[in-house]
Amino acid sequence: MTFADLVLLNGNIITMNPKTLLAQAIAIKGDRVFYVGNNQEVKQYINKKTRVIYLDGKTVLPGFIDTHVHVVDYGRMLTWLDLQGASSIRDVQIRLAERIKFVPKGRWVLGRALDSDSFLENRLPTCQELDTVSPDNPVVIYCQTGQACVVNSKTLKVSKISQQNNVGIERDVTGEPTGILRDQATELVWGVIPEPTHQELENAIELALEKIVQAGITSIHWIVLSEVEIAIIQKLVETGFLHVRIYLIVPTNLLDLALQKLKPFENDHFKLGGSIIFVDGYLASRTAALFEPYSDTLTDHGKLFCQQNEGVALANKIQNNGLQLIIHAVGDKAVQEALNIIQHTNINHMVPRPRIEQAAVLNQQLLDRIKTLDISVSVQPCVVASEFSVWSVTKHLGEKRVCLLFPVRELLNLGVLVSAGSDCPMEQLNPLHGIEASIRRDGTQKVSVFEALQMYTVFAARATSEFVNKGSIEQGKLADLVVLSNDPTATVVEKVKDISVCFSVFGGFVYCPKS
Ligand SMILES: [Zn+2]
Repeated sequence: MTFADLVLLNGNIITMNPKTLLAQAIAIKGDRVFYVGNNQEVKQYINKKTRVIYLDGKTVLPGFIDTHVHVVDYGRMLTWLDLQGASSIRDVQIRLAERIKFVPKGRWVLGRALDSDSFLENRLPTCQELDTVSPDNPVVIYCQTGQACVVNSKTLKVSKISQQNNVGIERDVTGEPTGILRDQATELVWGVIPEPTHQELENAIELALEKIVQAGITSIHWIVLSEVEIAIIQKLVETGFLHVRIYLIVPTNLLDLALQKLKPFENDHFKLGGSIIFVDGYLASRTAALFEPYSDTLTDHGKLFCQQNEGVALANKIQNNGLQLIIHAVGDKAVQEALNIIQHTNINHMVPRPRIEQAAVLNQQLLDRIKTLDISVSVQPCVVASEFSVWSVTKHLGEKRVCLLFPVRELLNLGVLVSAGSDCPMEQLNPLHGIEASIRRDGTQKVSVFEALQMYTVFAARATSEFVNKGSIEQGKLADLVVLSNDPTATVVEKVKDISVCFSVFGGFVYCPKS
């Protein structure tokens, strides 16, 4: 008789396995689930050593899979001064002063989540107001939306902003910068912030991974952006116990290095999963490649970043090394290019199937080709929501194109595998925010809550051919679970994001969120 290490019972267990969708109890041995069923039957697997958790009707789902996270940036951001909930400029000054006490003179202080809409003064602070508490340390505080920041005089001086004539630099009547920088001008500062040390990055990554599992996410697709990440990941995988499963996605310029340094360390917790080719950029920066110009310009189409033959050579290399071919393509012209590249690679049966990141601007012909070529699409529902609310995509692309913008409903109807991710830290990490964004979408592309859950579990696991191990709660699969305060399928739409994670189970271990 096998006895369980961990039993969860009295739960509302949504297995995501269509054969037996609902259950009451789960028994876990080691890192695997070995029984899913009812409260009565599970009792035979309990002995003195079994840890038993009574769920009191709480909802259990397979651990969420986030298919697009920038772990290093997220970790760095977590170490910043968090100004969420600040209610006035005075409040910002008090919190900043408190932080400065512990920072050596001259060292940079970064902050985030400034939201002047909720300030008594209803405006952003000026550089002078930051100077009163931080005369000697350069300060940069990013706004909630990430499209503006406020800096103090020390930062203005170090980044030589007075001498620049970027339109995003706000100036007072005398022409002096006020400290408020918007859009592209925020990059003037980003470029001069010193790179973190190796140790700082390691700490940031550990912090990020801890937050990720606490958010109920047990698998991530980690999008690597820089070379320094490879060495840190190598150390992490070699020496550390990972409490989230990592599917690493590297840009093609780091492919050789990643193969050499990381491939030998693959295990249940870590996989060098895919490599990504960038065919175009992003809508907000108008670098997404379109057939027709952006609607508010006559000539601006964006542009392709790579030629087809160059893309095909890279795609062949990725697949010859057994990795997933991933193509970042946002505009319709870029998606066409991505499909051409996939079609011209010399490998017939690709496992896992190739994937397009974003595939934002589509038309019927592109949709049909995506279906025929059996490609999966990775979307970030909170990014989609921001394109509408923050960037006013309808104005920039026009009504007609917006009908088939991120057409998730259309893709699912066609039977295309759609997986979901956060794009954290650009957007909130919390998958429940992404689920709510998916089901609250205006117009014809909204999906059901069950479909949104599929995008974060079953579909995400299928998209990387890992369904045999994860994506649903079934006998023999990894014991990766999330326990929620409420059932998303029985919650009013606008309250889904308020559902909290009670705890996560990763490989049989229980992780509780810290308050
Ligand atoms: Zn991203």
